[in-house]
Amino acid sequence: MSAKAQGPASRLDSDLRDVELATLAIRGGHTRTSEGEHSEPIFPTSSFVFNSAAQAAARFGGDEPGNIYSRFTNPTVRIFEQRIAAMEGGERAVATSSGMAAILSLGLGLLSQGDHIVCSYSVFGSTVSLFNKYFSKAGIRTSYVDPTDIDAWQRAVEPSTKLFFLETPSNPLAEIADIAAIAQVAHAAGAWLAVDNCFCTPALQLPLAMGADIVIHSATKFLDGQGRCIGGVVVGSDTLMEEVYGFVRTGGACLSPFNAWVFIKGLETLELRMLAQSERALQLANWLELQPQVERVYYSGLPCHPQHQLAARQQRAFGAVVAFEVKGGQAQAWALIDGTRMISITGNLGDVKTTITHPATTTHGRLSPEERQQAGIKDNLIRVSVGLEALADIQTDLQRGLSLL
Ligand SMILES: *Cc1c(COP(=O)(O)O)cnc(C)c1O
Repeated sequence: MSAKAQGPASRLDSDLRDVELATLAIRGGHTRTSEGEHSEPIFPTSSFVFNSAAQAAARFGGDEPGNIYSRFTNPTVRIFEQRIAAMEGGERAVATSSGMAAILSLGLGLLSQGDHIVCSYSVFGSTVSLFNKYFSKAGIRTSYVDPTDIDAWQRAVEPSTKLFFLETPSNPLAEIADIAAIAQVAHAAGAWLAVDNCFCTPALQLPLAMGADIVIHSATKFLDGQGRCIGGVVVGSDTLMEEVYGFVRTGGACLSPFNAWVFIKGLETLELRMLAQSERALQLANWLELQPQVERVYYSGLPCHPQHQLAARQQRAFGAVVAFEVKGGQAQAWALIDGTRMISITGNLGDVKTTITHPATTTHGRLSPEERQQAGIKDNLIRVSVGLEALADIQTDLQRGLSLL
């Protein structure tokens, strides 16, 4: 990228072709308006005006590019889309009103009645509900497989399989799926691979470069990073995203300009945050392993993690989420959580504020005891999403809880 500004509105996207992620996160997608604003502008407008009836007709008819209505396009939303597309290495991104809206729009944009999905069994709970309760109504069936077992993905393929869907690392147990290997199986079956890249973000993992066709995000988590807004995004090729865009535009699952602006600002610090939070998480996981009240720690950065090598190869760092089991059951887990004073007790994650969750009674509380057992979510399991507070203070707070056990 040339270092010299050429005045307002003169910079083209092509200036940003050969720059690194950190630069894309800060400069990507922003073409200045004639006002010469330095920070990205928010366009809180529902519709756009035309110079004439003929121009309105040309815009609606698709003969002239440009904005019509913010359910279709909005300049602030477009900056977010172009920035995240550049960071993920995709041709195009489509922003959505939430992470779930991203998965909904992916499914209804690309799949038809009779199509089949092969999905990792350790994906976000609402993803499973969406597939089982609602996609099934549209005649789209889903089979679930162990994300770490390549043969299982292969065995689950049916003639109508169109989509593979996975999250890696999984939440909360940090199972790692081999994106490149699973992409090969998907492509041999004539299916697309979609990766929910929420836990790593493009700062730590680039699924498209490893062969995935589509990346989805809950922007609500690390992309925002400060717990302010709900939003999502789908990234992939122009051809695939045109279909997803068609659904968002028609179905109305669009992102608001204000939320898009918050995410734009979140992306600017994403890499720094992900690296710093991952570093704290690694140290915390090592420390937790030494605590006598802790039975087991789930974190792919630990050499004892069964897929540590794969995680080290596939990811730039190991992420901010650490899960662990305490000795005892739910009573001990709750006592630890209630013994903390600083860490936020909340179901959310991906924030600069450290959060603590008891999955069995919250995020995974809707599963039956058998389903929870199958998913490996025990009553003594605790999930911590490590933020940016000083590590010593996070440890001190957890120690308050641990000392009660
Ligand atoms: C939170 C989350 C979602 C859903 O995102 P929302 O923004 O809450 O709709 C999807 N996938 C993963 C991995 C998540 O953590």
